[in-house]
Amino acid sequence: MNERDTLKINAKGTLEIGGMDTVEIAKKFSTPVYVYDEQHIRNMMRLYKDTINEYYGGNGLVLYASKAFSCKAIYRIAQQENIGIDAVSGGELYTAINAGFNPSKICLHGNNKLKHELELALDNGVGIIVVDSHSEVDLLDQLASSRGIKQDVLIRVNPGIEAHTHAFVQTARTDSKFGFSIHDGTAEKMVLHLMNKRNLNLKGFHCHIGSQIFEKEPFVLATEKMIAFIADLKTKYGFETNTLNMGGGFGIWYTDEDSKLSFDDYREYLRSIIDVINNKTEKLHLKKPYLLIEPGRSIVGEAGITLYTVGAIKDIEGIKKYVAVDGGMFESPRYALYQSKYTAILANRANEPCTEKVTIAGKCCESGDIIAADVALPLAKSGDIIAVFSTGAYHYSMASNYNRNFIPPVVLVGNGTAEYIVKPQSYEDIVRNDAVPERLKWKQN
Ligand SMILES: *Cc1c(COP(=O)(O)O)cnc(C)c1O
Repeated sequence: MNERDTLKINAKGTLEIGGMDTVEIAKKFSTPVYVYDEQHIRNMMRLYKDTINEYYGGNGLVLYASKAFSCKAIYRIAQQENIGIDAVSGGELYTAINAGFNPSKICLHGNNKLKHELELALDNGVGIIVVDSHSEVDLLDQLASSRGIKQDVLIRVNPGIEAHTHAFVQTARTDSKFGFSIHDGTAEKMVLHLMNKRNLNLKGFHCHIGSQIFEKEPFVLATEKMIAFIADLKTKYGFETNTLNMGGGFGIWYTDEDSKLSFDDYREYLRSIIDVINNKTEKLHLKKPYLLIEPGRSIVGEAGITLYTVGAIKDIEGIKKYVAVDGGMFESPRYALYQSKYTAILANRANEPCTEKVTIAGKCCESGDIIAADVALPLAKSGDIIAVFSTGAYHYSMASNYNRNFIPPVVLVGNGTAEYIVKPQSYEDIVRNDAVPERLKWKQN
């Protein structure tokens, strides 16, 4: 079996994920449902970890960027695989800590961290906080001081490389709400500012240049910029950088417009970063920094699929055919946000040839509530099971109760079993936090 065969069509002509029949999963757990292949997640975590071990002497740590998919079970898997995690909110932090995750391997991000989020991090001994504003630095120093601790921090730096999908740009002036720019000197000023903070320990720098990136070049350029910055600080101030965090952003396959990367391709991305660090630090006589990387999408994206049941079908003669399913933008928000493209199949008739192009629509009261546009499918009937691929990242984590629909449950397939890792919601959950003030209560007469 190919190392990346998360999905397979069996002899019955139905789709399997991680060796389990998706039609059976749909029957047992109902639809819509998110389904993840545990082994694929573990394989992705391992390949990044192994690459750091092999090419960088183990002098680093993989941090799973958990905003891609956050729930207790994923933090347990990350812990078992001996990697760290990124959190970007008190909620993610709380979930990880509540799941028993080792706080020293947590890295906290955010361009506007709230006081209670910083307090939660400090009170639980979070390993690294990546600072991203002056006000945050001052507040964090004060909070650390009142607790009598010295907190390790990185500065979020903007290296002037912005990458997205198949294009990237180098700019001296970056319009971003994230980070301090190297080019305009604000990053350097922040270093000096932090050196004077008694309760903060500046360990190094972080950058994250974008997401869904398929080229090596932007990573190489960003690493070069970061090392040049590190060298400059050493020359000018004798500042020794201990840690370099190069962010995430490795791309995944959604449709055949994207490359389908092999495990070796992902190793190569990371190696291209490591090669730059190794070469440049030797040339410039710098200490090799402890390397952090933060893949999110590439760890969970292709490991997850969403299963739906086909309901209403509307054929608008000469224009379009809509196949409506029991999900929608409340659980699959990326089309509404970015017109993202997806590949879908009929999971119960996976071998049948595609005969038409349809638009898979959701059930929300919005005409933009589309799950996937222009998808080739066999003739779909009400009751068919549709599987949409590569929905493991930024789907469940971005889901809402819009239109008071249920956020679908999440099922993890592994070890020959399929089990809930996020349970289904009920109508009781939907109204749980609603409050009715006394003056709005019904007066019975
Ligand atoms: C979103 C994010 C990541 C993960 O990006 P992916 O494209 O999912 O790999 C990593 N680091 C930071 C700071 C991020 O904001």
